[in-house]
Amino acid sequence: MNILILGGGAGGAVLASRLAKKLGEKVNITVVDRNPYHEFRPTYLWISMGIREPDHARRPLKLLEKKKIRFLNEEVLSIDLANRQVKTTNNVLNYDYLAISLGAELVPEKIKGLDKIYHPWEMDTSLKLREEIARFKGGKVVIGSTRLPHRCPPAPFEIAFMIRYLAEQRKISDKTEIKVIHPEWTKPMEGFGPFFAEMFSRLMEQYKIEFIGRWIIDHVDTENKVIISDKGEKLNYDLAILVPPHEPSKPIKNNPDLLDSGSGYMKVDKKTLNHPTYKEVYGLGDIIAPTIGLGMAGVFAHFQADYISTRIADEINGVYMQLDWNKTGVCVMDLGFIGAGAFCEFAEMLEGRAKYPDCYMLGGMSILRVAKMAFEKYWFKDIFG
Ligand SMILES: Cc1cc2nc3c(=O)[nH]c(=O)nc-3n(C[C@H](O)[C@H](O)[C@H](O)COP(=O)(O)OP(=O)(O)OC[C@H]3O[C@@H](n4cnc5c(N)ncnc54)[C@H](O)[C@@H]3O)c2cc1C
Repeated sequence: MNILILGGGAGGAVLASRLAKKLGEKVNITVVDRNPYHEFRPTYLWISMGIREPDHARRPLKLLEKKKIRFLNEEVLSIDLANRQVKTTNNVLNYDYLAISLGAELVPEKIKGLDKIYHPWEMDTSLKLREEIARFKGGKVVIGSTRLPHRCPPAPFEIAFMIRYLAEQRKISDKTEIKVIHPEWTKPMEGFGPFFAEMFSRLMEQYKIEFIGRWIIDHVDTENKVIISDKGEKLNYDLAILVPPHEPSKPIKNNPDLLDSGSGYMKVDKKTLNHPTYKEVYGLGDIIAPTIGLGMAGVFAHFQADYISTRIADEINGVYMQLDWNKTGVCVMDLGFIGAGAFCEFAEMLEGRAKYPDCYMLGGMSILRVAKMAFEKYWFKDIFG
């Protein structure tokens, strides 16, 4: 029995390690990724701030071989669902089960000038941003999303607080003005519901971070350091950190059998996470997040991997258990001076009975920063240890 997993990021790596534990020698598990490393993306924020190095944020996917999981460091080119075949740079792979966790890709070229603006949404751009932050001596900072959906909607807010903290440490806080812009939300963290947004707005005020909602970037004039909105408004900057638009990984984008025309991401049954027609095919993580109505977050990829591994193992072992996937989400934020945590239940929202998730916030505790740091260590141990 061949289980093929496309993508060795948060969803793919957790799924592979869970399946190896549950099924052992009964199955052949293969993971394909063009990146030789599994990357823990939350650490990019700390890399930009200069407190982590790239090797803190990644592990070679080859380490999965300790768990008898085959790793192919290749690009996935196309997926043929009818013939159960995947073409990669050097192989044609057959499968009995296929799990797709190819995530989203960044497309800065969709907005003029954005290719010269650095951000912690990929490793290479995190390192370039780190150089800019190291040189920063105060001034106007503009941080924000260009388009939704994107990985980790709270992260632009997180980095705004980190910059305030850094400005305090460098004693340049008085001459540092920080603005967070958002293309859709009218309040900070609005997607987490009104109660959360209210609490978070107060924190932003306390740390002198201004929020500008519904501000859609048209282009960036990098020569004159001005960001221009779709309505022609202008924001000058000395340091800009802007999340580029995202789109689904190419093998999904280019495949009508896999592309959900509504969301523009991968088609899945929202309840079971498998393909509506090809039941042996599952999707998880960012590639399905817009289709099921969730934000792009590793915590969802993780819980979905737990669920899919159970379903596949139960089916192979002939002991089907009627499990549902965990629709809670925890987001711990490092806000520089303090930490904050969002604890949310998404089930009501996903089932159409509520507009927002049911979220509450724990804020103002440095222990939450420590928890975030500890989780980074736990993450690698859980997958590779
Ligand atoms: C700055 C930042 C902070 C974040 N903080 C948090 C947080 O605190 N909490 C949280 O829950 N989430 C956070 N996230 C989001 C989280 O990292 C993602 O949601 C998560 O990584 C999604 O997992 P995934 O498996 O769907 O995709 P990914 O982890 O992106 O993995 C996709 C994999 O597929 C590979 N791939 C793509 N296309 C191809 C191809 N054609 N061929 C071969 N390989 C391919 C990629 O190389 C990649 O390894 C953060 C993200 C960022 C950028």
